[in-house]
Amino acid sequence: MLDAMQEETADLAELRGDCERCFGLCCVALPFSASADFKIDKAAGKPCRNLRDDHRCGIHARLRQSGFTGCTVYDCFGAGQKVSQITFAGQDWRNAPAEHARRMFDVFPVVRQLHELLWYLTEALALPAARPVHADLRRALAATERLTREPAEELAGLDVAAHRQEINVLLLRTSELVRAGTRGRGKNRRNADLIGARLKGADLRGADLRGAYLIAADLTGADLRGADLIGADLRDADLTDADLTGAFFLTQPQVDAARGGAGTRLPGSVTRPAHWAARL
Ligand code: SF4
Repeated sequence: MLDAMQEETADLAELRGDCERCFGLCCVALPFSASADFKIDKAAGKPCRNLRDDHRCGIHARLRQSGFTGCTVYDCFGAGQKVSQITFAGQDWRNAPAEHARRMFDVFPVVRQLHELLWYLTEALALPAARPVHADLRRALAATERLTREPAEELAGLDVAAHRQEINVLLLRTSELVRAGTRGRGKNRRNADLIGARLKGADLRGADLRGAYLIAADLTGADLRGADLIGADLRDADLTDADLTGAFFLTQPQVDAARGGAGTRLPGSVTRPAHWAARL
């Protein structure tokens, strides 16, 4: 029988992108602008020039060197395969009428947001300290999952911001319950501007770092055990030798966007990025 953490891992695995079952939706539906993350401009609904006919990326093995770092830190949370295979029943946008393709590209970002919520709710349910709200979390998980299976027309008109707000109330309560049981000071750094901050070795156990801007922050050797990292911007933050054991609401794109090494301790819900190996 699976224990709680294994169950969590099994569920979270379903919420990771599976490009084999997706029609390259993130490479078409989403816009991006020429910047440090993307070499070129691309409009929403327009296929990226690097997207091949088989829906695979033509420069996948050299995205970073080619100026497309932004693509390496993106995760659809499994929305790509859901929209491709369930919402649109396996109908490839390349062989479909323009209206069908447009609708597909409209729906994808909506389902992506819902799947991100599914990720957080699934993780919250695996946190023993959140037991007082587990029943509410289960209801919210079921309702969100149901929404992801609505027809395309319903999804396109969904007020996803309102749904996010409802879920956020529960996630905040979860955060309070979990951090209350964390030893340490549990600092409130919610939405804090910590860009480039020198936080080497900082005691951030049980800290509320929701939405904090930690871009390029020096977090080497920092103690982030039990911290809430939902929405924290970790681009280029240095997590070398940092301890994130038990940190929660941390997603793979956040970790992928940061720097780290063999000494970085991560929670079981995320994996060590391959590009960290170059720094080992
Ligand atoms: S560079 Fe590759 S991964 Fe990035 S949008 Fe283009 S095809 Fe997709």
